[in-house]
Amino acid sequence: MHSNIVGGSTAKRVINCPGSVTLVQKMPPKLGGDAADQGTLCHNAMATLLNDPSLEIKSVLGMTENDQVITEDLIDEKIIPAMAALTEIDPDGDMEYQIEAHVNFGNLLPNVFGSADLIGRIDDCAIILDWKFGRGEVDVEENEQLLFYAAAAMRTKGLEWAFAGVSEVEMVIVQPPAVKRWTTTVARVKQFERDLVHAVTASQNAAAPLKVGDHCRYCPAKPICPQMTGAAERALKVQIKELDPAKIGAYLATADLVEKWIGDLRDLAHQILESGEPVPGYKLVPKRALRQWVDEDKAYAALTKLGVDREELVETALLSPAKVEKILKKSKLNLPDDIVVAVSSGTTIAPESDPRSAVVFLPEQMKTALLKLG
Ligand code: SF4
Repeated sequence: MHSNIVGGSTAKRVINCPGSVTLVQKMPPKLGGDAADQGTLCHNAMATLLNDPSLEIKSVLGMTENDQVITEDLIDEKIIPAMAALTEIDPDGDMEYQIEAHVNFGNLLPNVFGSADLIGRIDDCAIILDWKFGRGEVDVEENEQLLFYAAAAMRTKGLEWAFAGVSEVEMVIVQPPAVKRWTTTVARVKQFERDLVHAVTASQNAAAPLKVGDHCRYCPAKPICPQMTGAAERALKVQIKELDPAKIGAYLATADLVEKWIGDLRDLAHQILESGEPVPGYKLVPKRALRQWVDEDKAYAALTKLGVDREELVETALLSPAKVEKILKKSKLNLPDDIVVAVSSGTTIAPESDPRSAVVFLPEQMKTALLKLG
């Protein structure tokens, strides 16, 4: 569960662009993907291990989150280095800590909260630690997400033990195999809190400013943001001949933003159409179908009967229909129709004028009724 005003992962955006809060609230919730599921899974595995130190690391093997599974590779690449990082931070095992701590600002900022991976303390130093299991490199210095957790944790009932009388706050990002550490002061965290209060207050104003920057990267409101649509329109109007090299560099920065905007806009249109709502001028069509074997054993038998060598058909498994078709062509043979089937891997958006038929979505009740009939 996330705050719909600001949380740890959105603090950078809201501080830099208070106007984004209202725009993001208009967007449909984004669905997580495999990468997000794998991140959640690794977080859950770490929480399991740290909540019960008697467990062996291998005990998390086979844990699942949707389609993602903790494999031997994930244990070697992510979990073991993440556990080793804790030994680096706390070599003598002196750290008191709480895992997955719910943190909030109480009455100072109602409905603003988050969940910190680890809040800890060693002597006079409070520790705020975040595990990152994705690929994108993250800096620890002045990291808004960690400053948000620190500021909120200082105000959270039940976490006073971590901050009472401390002189320093250490921020740690563990992104296996990297461990990044930045030590700051309580005064810096309090300054961040003032900036956050200022941004959240500004965000409640209808005329809250919208400001473009690298914080736009993960902003879900890009497809409807006037700053972005304006950038797209300006980019389309640019006269190439009038540009000089210095300007091209500046336009490239805009191009990066517009590129992300276009991708997010397509995703949003796809999401709206999949929900059954119209997007004028567009429809969903099946993705290009790829041929598969109806039954690999039968296909293998049929192909060897045609006289093709086993070595030619198999590398580690039976080659794809497209590759086998090429082999057959050398002997002027055709791929038998009855051993392949074309399967589409999903839908994609296309203009109404596209000759392919639109995909028809059945309402859930009708699907259930048909399943019962079947
Ligand atoms: S895309 Fe950028 S400028 Fe627009 S609302 Fe999001 S953060 Fe603000």
